Amino acid sequence: MKSLVDQHGRKIDYLRISITDRCNLRCIYCMPESGVAHKSHEEILTYAEIMKIVVAASYCGIKKVRITGGEPLVRKDVVDLVAAIAKTANINDFSLTTNGMLLGEYAEELKNAGLRRINISLDSLVREKCEMITRRDALNKVVEGIDTALRVGLGPVKINVVVIRGVNDDEIAEFAKLTCDKPLHVRFIEFMPIGDNSIWGMEKFIPNDEVKNLCRELGELKEEGSQPNGNTSSYRLGKAKGTISFISPISSPFCGGCGRLRLTSDGKLRLCLGSAEEIDLLSIVRNSKFSSEHLIEAFERAAILKPKGHRFNCAPHISGKKTMCQIGG
Ligand code: SAM
Ligand code: SF4
Repeated sequence: MKSLVDQHGRKIDYLRISITDRCNLRCIYCMPESGVAHKSHEEILTYAEIMKIVVAASYCGIKKVRITGGEPLVRKDVVDLVAAIAKTANINDFSLTTNGMLLGEYAEELKNAGLRRINISLDSLVREKCEMITRRDALNKVVEGIDTALRVGLGPVKINVVVIRGVNDDEIAEFAKLTCDKPLHVRFIEFMPIGDNSIWGMEKFIPNDEVKNLCRELGELKEEGSQPNGNTSSYRLGKAKGTISFISPISSPFCGGCGRLRLTSDGKLRLCLGSAEEIDLLSIVRNSKFSSEHLIEAFERAAILKPKGHRFNCAPHISGKKTMCQIGG
């Protein structure tokens, strides 16, 4: 068992795995209305290939795994993959990010397969606005998904809200209030310039200090402590059952504590969300002379090459052509 430390002293211990670039929604900030050109099945890692990579990653010191996409729950037999990852040695934090559309159907199976916790993305509590953002009539299904996740005990249940000025900034208080009666953990995420056809613009960006001040209008925000990687602190409104946190990659970058690597569904190991550098793992796992040593060497190379930080602030849109649904948020 190894421990990977990069050139900047950061321990690499977290792998986000995008298992598909497909999605049943078309969020305006993530995907064009027509969708993105999908990879064929042959171009996408099989579950067996993903597991080879997960096993090598865990040997290299990866302890935390998140499944994402595209929308991970649209990929066939996703529960089998969840069960296999849950059984992998040394993975002690295992989660999944979903848009919630299929969670009513899958939450219980995912929990039984060994998934520990879940993040659900929801950007509006108003049906028509949610439809405008996702380009689908999504709200009722997502709310059903959230309630099912709570009911089956897939907790903590975190709600990801990307705040966009002029789109959903009028709903910040309503999202914060969700934490009062249910154990929901609302995370306000700053809108990032990702992909070359993103709708991102400075006029749509809201720094999280502003979001936090709007939450403070509801009452005192008591700080509960920060995550070890320093990317967020969580706060509680009075005796609320859940918490509020602020993920601020633009106004307060947390690159200094970033131990993340991302595996795209087409088998590229992406070293930073904000740069297009990738290492091709697909060709390694499909090589007729495959050995897990080759994957271990690739993870070691990733640690050497991982950039010090994103440069969203100095050069927006340098993250390359891939949108968030292709990289895995
Ligand atoms: N489909 C799943 C979902 O929506 O939760 C998983 C994939 S999605 C790409 C992962 C997360 O990235 C979501 O919470 C989404 O809101 C977020 N996201 C996508 N584009 C973003 C952007 N430009 N800035 C900030 N967050 C973004
Ligand atoms: Fe799909 Fe998630 Fe992107 Fe929305 S944010 S289009 S749900 S991948």
